[in-house]
Amino acid sequence: MKNTLRIAVQKSGRLSDDSLALIKECGIKVNNGMGKLKAEASNFPMEFLFLRDDDIPGYVQDGVADIGIVGANEAEEKDKQVDWVKKLGFSKCRLSLAIDKAETYNGIQDFEGKSLATSYPKILGDYLKANKINADIHEISGSVEIAPSIGLAYGICDIVSSGSTLMSNGLKEVEVIFKSEAVMLANKNLSTEKKEILDRLIFRIDAVQTAKNNKYILLNAPNDALENIINILPGMKSPTVLPLATEGWSSVHSVIQEDDFWEIIEGLRNAGAQGILVVPIEKMIL
Ligand code: ATP
Ligand code: MG
Repeated sequence: MKNTLRIAVQKSGRLSDDSLALIKECGIKVNNGMGKLKAEASNFPMEFLFLRDDDIPGYVQDGVADIGIVGANEAEEKDKQVDWVKKLGFSKCRLSLAIDKAETYNGIQDFEGKSLATSYPKILGDYLKANKINADIHEISGSVEIAPSIGLAYGICDIVSSGSTLMSNGLKEVEVIFKSEAVMLANKNLSTEKKEILDRLIFRIDAVQTAKNNKYILLNAPNDALENIINILPGMKSPTVLPLATEGWSSVHSVIQEDDFWEIIEGLRNAGAQGILVVPIEKMIL
């Protein structure tokens, strides 16, 4: 086997665009022409397989692919012998239980002795078992949300993101049983060479993800406000402080986290900062 890392990504679906966008942000160029099932990166030792997402965990287990990107829901349901390498932060959704919106709901015990339609019998079965509920699981492969209205099942367990599909089928979400996002899976027996390529890829993904969670901030401040302002800025290390041409003023540069963004900006303004600029960071290596 030559030293190329083979990655399986979804051919066409909700994971495809974000999976390829992430690869691109890692500086890896791949020509995935229409309908292609296989492609090679031109500037990184990586080969791409474009597959149905259902098949990806199994292919990674069997070594047909070395790594793969799938929804955690699919990875958990397929339950293959693979390593979960990394959460990727996109394709976020949840698996939920839903019932006819006209039914009253008192709690999980309402499902005792009832029937549930789902494409996720393993995840649902584990959940019911953990909650000591006996219910009938009807495995169906699609259009799960119509099951209650056609009398196939009392409730369903399916993927929800906004909830609009449930609503348009007259259902209401009553329990979230699994939270999902795209994950990277890897084969358990990668060669040393392939592991090295995977480490390089993960280094790049980390840099892209860290950059997305952070912003570069520049501001001007009177020198007597500097101490307060520096205390507000968490930064990677201590912020850079440069004198301005105007006497008694400095320019302060730092990095702030997206999560605390508005609180920090408000604090800075109150402390006397002016001309605050916030710019995205493309890559960030800590
Ligand atoms: P395939 O043809 O490859 O089998 P599929 O129809 O099974 O595709 P998609 O609908 O493309 O699957 O969804 C792929 C994954 O994207 C799901 O397993 C889930 O992790 C995630 N996902 C599904 N629905 C949403 C949503 N509305 N928002 C965000 N992520 C979602
Ligand atoms: Mg699928």
